[in-house]
Amino acid sequence: MPVALTVPVTATLVRMRGTDDGPPRCIALAGEIGQEVKCTIYDRRPGPCRDFAPFAALGIGDEGCARARRRHGMKPLDE
Ligand code: SF4
Repeated sequence: MPVALTVPVTATLVRMRGTDDGPPRCIALAGEIGQEVKCTIYDRRPGPCRDFAPFAALGIGDEGCARARRRHGMKPLDE
């Protein structure tokens, strides 16, 4: 993970830059939310990103996915 994309949280933990902003937007996200976006470091994305909404590509969200979508004015995937 490029250090420039992260912000230290503790001595052994970092978070993606931008994810603690208001509103949050990861520095690695490209595109326009609600239109078309992509993770520019998809093959190297951190563990929490790999665990997030694992079936979203199949149109099946989860509560975290629904919260994120609502934050941007979108309905949950399964509504
Ligand atoms: S999947 Fe990519 S763009 Fe989304 S939060 Fe993780 S690193 Fe950032």
